[in-house]
Amino acid sequence: MDDKFMLMIPGPTPVPESVLLAQAKHLIGHRSGEFSEIMAEVTAGLKWLHQTKNDVLMLTASGTGAMEAGIINVLSVGDRVLVGSNGKFGDRWVKVCKAFGLNVDVIEAEWGKPLNPDDFKAKLEADTDKTIKAVLVTHSETSTGVLNDLKTIADHAHAHGEALVLVDAVTSLGACSVPVDGWGLDVVASGSQKGYMIPPGLGFVAMSDRAWQAYETSNIPKFYFDLGPYRKSGAKNTTPFTPPVSLFFALQVALKMMQDEGLDNIFSRHAKLQTATRAAMKGLNLPLFAADEVASPAVTAVMPQGVEAEKIRSIMRKQYDIALAGGQDHLKGQIFRVGHLGFVGNRDILTAVASLEATLAQ
Ligand code: PLP
Repeated sequence: MDDKFMLMIPGPTPVPESVLLAQAKHLIGHRSGEFSEIMAEVTAGLKWLHQTKNDVLMLTASGTGAMEAGIINVLSVGDRVLVGSNGKFGDRWVKVCKAFGLNVDVIEAEWGKPLNPDDFKAKLEADTDKTIKAVLVTHSETSTGVLNDLKTIADHAHAHGEALVLVDAVTSLGACSVPVDGWGLDVVASGSQKGYMIPPGLGFVAMSDRAWQAYETSNIPKFYFDLGPYRKSGAKNTTPFTPPVSLFFALQVALKMMQDEGLDNIFSRHAKLQTATRAAMKGLNLPLFAADEVASPAVTAVMPQGVEAEKIRSIMRKQYDIALAGGQDHLKGQIFRVGHLGFVGNRDILTAVASLEATLAQ
């Protein structure tokens, strides 16, 4: 692998050189004033990115750890939850909920299709006793390249009861707007190796006031992921345990880059990359797995016909130094996925498309 290697997968995503270099700095103590200054700055940056006044907490974890932390801090054993699943990561929500003894009602859609908000509405309307404690949704379903209609689902949850809205925003945050306050999202989980443009290792959980109220009565055992101490320490710009200090250096630089670019520009850049990638695939006669209207701005899934997806990935990797993602679970070998999330620009897509064209010509 050389410096021309291109990581066109939906995470880990490419990391800008200035961010890579920031991590090379000598470590500082996490109880120092210098660290607290960084923590204050990145906390403000995270709130800006989440478009929220809520707490946004940082954990030493991947995205799944952030999802788990969300669940175990606002729910109790036996609680009934409504989980949307139309891919690998919707299934992840289901698995984590079951692992902690929740009573899971799954709303499914075929992989490659979006969740139907009406299905949520019907279940919530039928729940006249208000037994549903939470609605869990994957915003951008990375395994299929589908963006679910989170806003409408959240609106239904608010209109029909008190259910908390828990969101996996792992590949939507930093790619499209996730207005946490505007949409009333109670728990929002994400991970550093995606739109944040930094390496894996930090998980983020945004918690609303309603989520904190639910925390008070949550009886699921927890220790390292008990968010109470993170909130308490966070108020003093410190962390309860030793944080990955170098990743904080990286996050500081990456958030500054994002703020310099501006939210609207970040979202329109991703929208353009998405449109360009999809247009190119159509031009190459490569069938897209998700329809245009529900496509994720972070990743495009392609289901080639007559050519093996894995052969395409292998040629792209070996001859053109470009990594594409494969399919997951039953889609293994059926699809490949082009990531266009985070530190990705026009030239990356043009290079990937040209290489793909040359690959298909072989
Ligand atoms: N949710 C979504 C939508 C994802 O794309 C991923 C990772 O790809 C995860 C959850 C899990 O994140 P992690 O692998 O960081 O635990």
